[in-house]
Amino acid sequence: MSAVLNGVYINANWCEGHAVLDVINPATEAVLAQVSVGDEQAVQRAVDAASAAFADWSKSTGGDRGALLRKVAQGVSEQREQLMHLQSSNNGKPLFEAGIDVDDVIATFEYYAEAAEAMDAAQDGSVTLPSADFSARLRREPCGVVGLIVPWNFPMVTTAWKLAPALAAGCCVVLKPSEVTPLAELQLARIIAQAGFPAGVFNLVCGTGLAVGAPLAADRRVAKISFTGSNAVGVQVMQRAAETIKGVSLELGGKSSLLVMADADLDLAVELACGGGFFNAGQMCSATSRVLVADRLADEFLQRLQARADAIRVADPFADGVEMGALINRAQYHKVLGHIQRGIEEGARLLCGGARPAGLPNGFFIRPTVFTDVPLDSALWNQEIFGPVLCVRRFATEEEAVALANASDFGLVASVVSGSADTAERVANALQAGMVWINAPQVIFPQTAWGGYKQSSIGRELGPWGLAAFQEIKHVIRAN
Ligand code: NAD
Repeated sequence: MSAVLNGVYINANWCEGHAVLDVINPATEAVLAQVSVGDEQAVQRAVDAASAAFADWSKSTGGDRGALLRKVAQGVSEQREQLMHLQSSNNGKPLFEAGIDVDDVIATFEYYAEAAEAMDAAQDGSVTLPSADFSARLRREPCGVVGLIVPWNFPMVTTAWKLAPALAAGCCVVLKPSEVTPLAELQLARIIAQAGFPAGVFNLVCGTGLAVGAPLAADRRVAKISFTGSNAVGVQVMQRAAETIKGVSLELGGKSSLLVMADADLDLAVELACGGGFFNAGQMCSATSRVLVADRLADEFLQRLQARADAIRVADPFADGVEMGALINRAQYHKVLGHIQRGIEEGARLLCGGARPAGLPNGFFIRPTVFTDVPLDSALWNQEIFGPVLCVRRFATEEEAVALANASDFGLVASVVSGSADTAERVANALQAGMVWINAPQVIFPQTAWGGYKQSSIGRELGPWGLAAFQEIKHVIRAN
């Protein structure tokens, strides 16, 4: 193991923190690195630097900001392999999944570079008024210093979805990565440091939620907090933000459904069920962990799903042919096993998986797990599990399927598998979810919004909505 990495970057300087945290490789349980992390004082210094930088940065042109964002995209692209490696070793995800993450980061920075470049021509656009006595223009201005707090399941990706639009808008940033997965973000920060942003525009403070996240959410000079993580912490962030009437964007949990309609292609349905349940070892806010299958297909579907789930190669992220890697840490491993045990006690039928795979004595691995006959009032059916666990239920009619999918406190995403375009589109329209995929894997584009209904989100990321989340609207009205 090499020297302790500095996990605090303030005003264009890497600084030592106040404590050292071990970063673990979840596939081996070995210490991967040590990071010197910050505390409340570091947060204050980072907000000092961001506040000082805001005066000039907020007046920079969109063209200038776009050019810097392109440099970040370029830097990430040049270090693609290294970033993939960091992502897999720190997160436990297979290398091919890490490649998807890095490509998403590149696409997001490129998208917001273009959005920033388009802002100059659109600024001060005139507004049509119903009176010739007045004229008006519209300005979109950066909302100020923003705090970005992100989780461990898609490090760099959740960061890029906040950081790229915040910088494009002209905000100054204090980023807090997850204390569990800081390595890819530290490398991204080095790329940003080399891109040539003015000092203080981008600041990073690694550390725990209580030492860094909480004071960031409370600081009155921070205009907005953009948070991705659990609902429990989302509530705390919102409460702290409320004290200074801060804006908040929240991306929280999910309990999403995949609906296999009576005319679905079964092979496709099984592939999409496995993708929606086991990608990233099921640690996805968008996991379609409820699978609803039409009665007439259910027996055959379950047979094929079990065969496919049992055949999934669970292994070290760097192993040949690996399809699913490790869960993030010991706490999450035990939490997911606890959910599985409780599901059995609640009366759900365990079809396959449910335990550690044979031949992997170390690391936080759990076999792809499928339950059937899951009671509607069970925790297994209603709570976010955040592990490789699918719950299957049958339905008789389309109305019943939609009602079952919508009966949730969450509403992040949904997937529909159907041979009929009419059926699929009708069901998609009826679902309470921010994103619906039809006969498609969970593809995400920077052009389409991310976020959901009900307790899954406040606001939307990506697309123009992601940019607007970091902007204030100003109208200037003048008498003619
Ligand atoms: P978490 O809520 O435990 O932590 C998220 C971040 O908040 C971390 O950086 C953590 O250090 C910080 N934090 C913890 N306590 C804090 C506090 N009191 N004040 C401020 N910050 C604090 O979440 P996690 O376990 O890292 O991630 C898993 C959760 O994230 C799941 O619930 C998942 O659904 C959600 N998630 C949602 C989306 C989405 O887009 N909707 C995407 C990814 C993950």
